[in-house]
Amino acid sequence: MVKILDIDLTKADFSTIERPELRDEVLGGSGLAAKLFSESCSPSVSALSPENVVVIAIGPLNAYFPAMTKAVAVFKSPRTDEWGESHAGGRLGTALRFSGFDAIVIRGKSDHPIYISIHDEAIRIRNAETLWGMRSHMTPGRIIREREPGSGRRSIIRIGRAGENLVTYASVNVDTYRHFGRLGLGAVFGSKNLKAIVISGSHDFPILDRKRFKEIYRKIWNRMVYKGEMKKYHDYGTPVNILSLNEMGALPTRNFSSGRFENADKISGHELAEKLLVRKISCMSCPVGCIHIAADRKLVSEEHEYITSYVSYDYEPIYSLGSNLGISSSDKLLRVLEAVEEAGLDAISAGVVMAYATELMEKGMISEKDTEGIHLEWDNADGYIQAIKAITERKGEFFKMLGESPKLLIEQYKGGDLLTVMAKNEIAGYHTGLANLVGHAIGLRHSHLDNAGYSLDQKILKGSKMTPEKITAKLVEEEKFRQVFTSLVACLFARSVYDPDLICECLNVIGIEKNVEELNEIGERIYKMKNAWRMEAGFDPHAIKLPGRFVETITPNGKIDPDDFKRAIAEYSRIV
Ligand code: SF4
Repeated sequence: MVKILDIDLTKADFSTIERPELRDEVLGGSGLAAKLFSESCSPSVSALSPENVVVIAIGPLNAYFPAMTKAVAVFKSPRTDEWGESHAGGRLGTALRFSGFDAIVIRGKSDHPIYISIHDEAIRIRNAETLWGMRSHMTPGRIIREREPGSGRRSIIRIGRAGENLVTYASVNVDTYRHFGRLGLGAVFGSKNLKAIVISGSHDFPILDRKRFKEIYRKIWNRMVYKGEMKKYHDYGTPVNILSLNEMGALPTRNFSSGRFENADKISGHELAEKLLVRKISCMSCPVGCIHIAADRKLVSEEHEYITSYVSYDYEPIYSLGSNLGISSSDKLLRVLEAVEEAGLDAISAGVVMAYATELMEKGMISEKDTEGIHLEWDNADGYIQAIKAITERKGEFFKMLGESPKLLIEQYKGGDLLTVMAKNEIAGYHTGLANLVGHAIGLRHSHLDNAGYSLDQKILKGSKMTPEKITAKLVEEEKFRQVFTSLVACLFARSVYDPDLICECLNVIGIEKNVEELNEIGERIYKMKNAWRMEAGFDPHAIKLPGRFVETITPNGKIDPDDFKRAIAEYSRIV
């Protein structure tokens, strides 16, 4: 059974439908969300209009097996005006499984701020006027926790001020330490006057062959916990990559002007783990515990009074709000991370646009008159915290544009080659070579997670010879199989554990008969469906401009040749 909750915010009404045929066609998760979204949302709608639709879905393996934890959101992105898709862990995937729903479809727009409350079959649209406008998303989270049932296994997702103010890269916070980060889902929530969703449930879900299920479960658990296959995620977490990428010369620094940061050791995963780490937590039903939480202690009185806040950290925010802004200490880094978190912004986009603004100021292309008196300078954490507030509150023309559209910004302030945005999305933290750039350009959502171009670059660095055409072919192949993975919905960190044969075993034991060939067909189908929609929304691979900064700054694989980039894009047009 695939059970869908369909909510119309304009009518303040909902219905439930069952679409069992979709399990066979698209599995669930990313495929299910894509299918329901493509059926409901025309590619021509404005992303911030009531006609935009949000679908949040889980897959057939959520909550059954370790690290099958994610939920997928699909929407039209206000950042790129194309396919919007974001994945989040926390408790959301498991809470949805217990609620009995495989997907939630949200349409229309409420005429006043609301939040949605889902507890099994009890669905309510509640007034959120008193929650709207609160400075930090933490406060509404606390209030909803006090009002709603489901303690211990509910999930609460909510937006901050950036979402309310329609900043096009506003995020949705999921259970405090996880996010639907990229592509502006927070602004889409804001445009619908939707502050939050709380979900809990108490449904059972069936296991046909308990003995076999336990065997498979134990095998996976052992590989993750005792055989150390995911040890790096638990130990230092993703920030372990700071030092290795820096060593390689691929850690973007001061607006991608270098691949090496002289203070990398001061903001590294090692430094944070040894000095500020206080806790590691897991998404619900994962044994890995890769979510690293640091304590940020602020002195508030000379009598040794402190306020302590807890900030989660990962590789991407440390690159974008750390090395890319020249931040030279872990204390400063945590303060900037916390400001972005409180505002409810996507960390990568916020860091990239602030790095661009800093270079404009450094080069005298803007002055403090443009930035409401805020001084932007590498390593100036106070300046960046003020800028984050100004972006969030849409203060002054410059910061309005910084929160709205890279195109407007470039038209007004020039310096387009300095802005590390491609296909209208800010780039992730890997200046590894051509494959990363091509992967970002052709990826369905212009994310490093679409096809892991950075990983292909590292294989090339180790000696794999690849033409630009071969790079494109490999990226497309990888992205097609990832459609299966994100339809289950598995955490991508577990991709080395869940090989295609093991995925089939897991599906078969819960009654879904699939072989590897059929999985590949499903991946291909979902990929084509998403690509067709985004083409209709206006995606043109040949219109993608390679920013000069990517060519100028040498990667570990050498200087990027713009002709190789064009060859790779031409190959994409030929094969897709
Ligand atoms: S590995 Fe980390 S992100 Fe992935 S499911 Fe486990 S705790 Fe969540």
